[in-house]
Amino acid sequence: MFNSLSDRLTSTFKNLKGKGRLTDADIDATAREIRRALLDADVAVPVVREFIGQVKERALGSEVSQALNPGQQVVKIVNDELVQILGGDTRRISLAKNPPTVIMLVGLQGAGKTTLAGKLSKHLKDQGHTPLLVAADLQRPNAVKQLQVNGERAGVPVFAPHPGVSSEFEAATGDPVQVARDGVAEARNRQYDVVIVDTAGRLGVDAELMEQAANIRTAVQPDEVLFVIDAMIGQDAVATAQAFNDGVGFTGVVLTKLDGDARGGAALSVRSVTGKPVMFASTGEALTDFEVFHPDRMASRILD
Ligand code: GDP
Repeated sequence: MFNSLSDRLTSTFKNLKGKGRLTDADIDATAREIRRALLDADVAVPVVREFIGQVKERALGSEVSQALNPGQQVVKIVNDELVQILGGDTRRISLAKNPPTVIMLVGLQGAGKTTLAGKLSKHLKDQGHTPLLVAADLQRPNAVKQLQVNGERAGVPVFAPHPGVSSEFEAATGDPVQVARDGVAEARNRQYDVVIVDTAGRLGVDAELMEQAANIRTAVQPDEVLFVIDAMIGQDAVATAQAFNDGVGFTGVVLTKLDGDARGGAALSVRSVTGKPVMFASTGEALTDFEVFHPDRMASRILD
């Protein structure tokens, strides 16, 4: 396993005591270690470069506090910078003035959208909302059924194109755009206050997928479009996030599979490249393996 950045930087500076301010040389000595820590955490290469530039700017000339050695001081600056880029405080779902609030989920196949739909619906239900799930992923065999099972576990109804396990409704057609539109109309008519629309993904980004998702976005005018991304995607995070940001556009990010080994560098990459905040984290297959995203915890995980 890796030593933490803090351990490495502390040893870089073990012979430097009693210095008042951080110098160019101090910072160059740390840049290599910071780069290594971020690359180990799977932060995208161009993002690492830009981040180190920002840290250098902030660190240069900064005073070393009495309580810290220069290594600890740099770790603190890196940590603060990471927390700031990751979003400072956590952003909440922005609720529509006139319900229902419409939340659309987008992302690659296997990212964890359908699983997340169940978790998010339970989270909102626990907060006193009355959510409706809409199964507009008609691409993947079983996606509708899977959403129905998740909805049943969460105690949340599912609007689906075929009657199934817990579906109370039947949509007019098998067209995903129409299903999404009808689902939102159903929520409005029956006074559900939040609608979560699950959409299709592909194994790789493709034009047809983007067009379908963009058409659903136009049809249902969501208040939030959440881009769901597997934390284990590694260096591909940037290209995938950019493709979805350009092709559909999104307002927030959900990082999944954080129960695995991934250190979560994708959070920094996606935030840096798109400017969109990570809002939630998915940490397992169970309905309750779900957290509001905490930038400070993620910064520690990336640097650990
Ligand atoms: P979708 O294609 O984007 O709808 O992805 P799914 O929701 O079907 O998830 C794909 C697979 O990943 C399923 O086997 C899920 O059980 C699993 N999965 C989803 N989220 C997580 C998570 O946070 N951690 C783990 N370990 N597995 C997850």
